[in-house]
Amino acid sequence: MPAKKGKDDRVKELLRQLFLDVAGEEAVHLVDLLFGKKPVNEFLVAKKLKLTINQVRNLLYRLGDQGLVSFTRKKDAKKGGWYTYFWTIEVEKSLVRLEERLGEKKTRLGGVIEKRKNEQFFVCEGCEKQYTQEEALLADYLCEECGEMMVAKDMDAEIEAAEAELVGVCDLLEPVGEELVELRKKDAKARARAVAAELKKKALERKKRAAARKRAKTLEEKKLGKKKKAAGTGGAGSKKKVVKKKAVKKKKPVKKKKAASKKAVKKKAKGKK
Ligand SMILES: [Zn+2]
Repeated sequence: MPAKKGKDDRVKELLRQLFLDVAGEEAVHLVDLLFGKKPVNEFLVAKKLKLTINQVRNLLYRLGDQGLVSFTRKKDAKKGGWYTYFWTIEVEKSLVRLEERLGEKKTRLGGVIEKRKNEQFFVCEGCEKQYTQEEALLADYLCEECGEMMVAKDMDAEIEAAEAELVGVCDLLEPVGEELVELRKKDAKARARAVAAELKKKALERKKRAAARKRAKTLEEKKLGKKKKAAGTGGAGSKKKVVKKKAVKKKKPVKKKKAASKKAVKKKAKGKK
């Protein structure tokens, strides 16, 4: 299986879980219809899911409320200028939402397990009414409904069930976290590319503006020059003496040669001045 397809399958499976949780069985099929595609016309969605357009909109709005899907709309000339909505899955937002929901579930299950491990419950075998330890004590271990004697509840099965559920939640949290890391990496790269492209564009625009300014200036100077000549103000004024910059003589580094005689040094010094 190609890596990309395998990855997409994992994301799709996670999205299916979330959509099922949020909007029920019908929403699961939306994942297959919308995932990895350009925004899909809601009429096509209705047709594929064999639902009415109102049912589809209802479903999509429910998911949209949580930010899991979003739409763009286009005015449809064929449909008398009504808007047609095109839907797409917000994959990152969906995964964030799934992570939140799973996190909440994990906390809740942890609490349940802790409570069941530390608390003793009592149950009436006659009517199955359940009592906390305190309630049982207050009632003298006699059921308030039917007067039967309560028995201590065996919590192991419930604890095991909650623990199994917790394992399931953690097994889902891990891939969700991994997929989010991947998505954010991709996003960061895309953003960096966009910023680089924007900077390049701006630099180019600056360069163009600078070149345009230079051209305008040269043109202006030419015009001015012609005007001056035409007005006869040229002559001496325009023939400004070009003062050449004095070439700065570089000082020769004075070598302190032990071998050089004092005379030679003096001559050199005189020659320079
Ligand atoms: Zn009872």
